[in-house]
Amino acid sequence: MVEEKVKAEAMQMLGMFQVLPRLVVFDLDYTLWPFYCECRSKHDTPYMYPHAKGILYGLKDKGINLAIASKSPTPDIANTYIDKLSIKSMFVAKEIFYSWTQKTEHFDKIHLRTGVPFNSMLFFDDDNKNIQAVSKMGVTSILVDNGVNLGALRQGLTGFAENWNATQKNKQKRIKKFSPNSYSSEKKKQK
Ligand SMILES: [Mg+2]
Repeated sequence: MVEEKVKAEAMQMLGMFQVLPRLVVFDLDYTLWPFYCECRSKHDTPYMYPHAKGILYGLKDKGINLAIASKSPTPDIANTYIDKLSIKSMFVAKEIFYSWTQKTEHFDKIHLRTGVPFNSMLFFDDDNKNIQAVSKMGVTSILVDNGVNLGALRQGLTGFAENWNATQKNKQKRIKKFSPNSYSSEKKKQK
């Protein structure tokens, strides 16, 4: 079964990283499933990209929380599909509403709801405008080309670890700069 195989590979991949995001956020249309749900009927049977479900299960099993950020103008259809795909209970936050912003409003809400800081989040979307705006908020944001798959997951986890290490280094630099020891040694030098 593809789903089990992908889940196992995702979990193996997750095991190779020392730092992991606390929350992974997904767009819906053309990220989790290959269509615009607004162009379909509630009564249709939805389906996801081949790797999507296995990746969701792999992340969940590793204790990583999941959320949705979608600008779909038809949240009722989106929610019906999430229900039909039996993935509803996997998400700690589902922000599905149309907005003129590039999902910054969605991420403010997700942050308020979960308390997870932006630099502990990883985001997947197929729209570059959303990726640009959300990455400016401090979220590691990955543009997907053909839906979320193991390649995109690897890219996301690598990018997340790089961003995380960069902020830790900056923090250490600031601590050194303002620590009492370095301050007094500066003073001594001045004398
Ligand atoms: Mg999309």
